[in-house]
Amino acid sequence: MDRRHFFETSVAASAGTLVGLSGSSVAAQTVKTPFEVAATYIPVVGSDEFFPVRRIYCIGRNYAAHAREMGSDPSREPPFFFQKPTDAVQFVPEGTIADHPYPTLTKNYHYEAELVAALHKGGRNIPVAEALDLVYGYTLGLDMTRRDLQRALGDQKKPWEIGKSFDRSAPLGAIHRVAQTGHFAQGAIWLKVNGEIKQNANLNQMIWSVAEQISKLSEAFELFPGDIIYSGTPENVGPVVRGDVIEMHIDGLPNLSVTIV
Ligand code: MN
Repeated sequence: MDRRHFFETSVAASAGTLVGLSGSSVAAQTVKTPFEVAATYIPVVGSDEFFPVRRIYCIGRNYAAHAREMGSDPSREPPFFFQKPTDAVQFVPEGTIADHPYPTLTKNYHYEAELVAALHKGGRNIPVAEALDLVYGYTLGLDMTRRDLQRALGDQKKPWEIGKSFDRSAPLGAIHRVAQTGHFAQGAIWLKVNGEIKQNANLNQMIWSVAEQISKLSEAFELFPGDIIYSGTPENVGPVVRGDVIEMHIDGLPNLSVTIV
């Protein structure tokens, strides 16, 4: 059974919750609904609680060498962000190799290994010095990408949506609370395909730190508890095909593995 779906259904309430237009749950009230819509929850390590995912933000080109390989200038211009839908999450339990479906419409399906920050507080215009107070925990994730479609759409000045924000495009592991791991300013981040190293970098090579990402993001969007942020990928992104096994690592977190099926 799909573990994510199990968690969703086991936690799902029988009635919906009405939230304010801003996304705030302050004025939440229970309402009757004609059917249920699954929410997305990620297990929290060392806890019986689940992290409820509100939004998935992703930062683009946050390592200079990756910005160069994507054909852009890695100078410290303001970061840019895009989103994946919440139900793009594919939870990958520690110690397992989850099946990850090769998506439709692409002939160039790429991995991107990334540190993921999970927020338990929100706000607008958060100063960098206070930004890490918003972080509940961290995990590692793959920003899976239909690279051919992303490039083609970009060339046509159309939205990236189907290149980046498709079903199951966000495999990630369980959330580790900051109290257990501390924050991640440095440490190895690598990704192997079939045991061969492909990406190999250090988190200290990020152009914008997690704190800076949160601060910049909060200038564009009001952040809320439940938001998660993919912090960008190092250089040497590349393709996978059916049968390939991806293993990714960040120092201080258990490895994440998927098989492309
Ligand atoms: Mn990415």
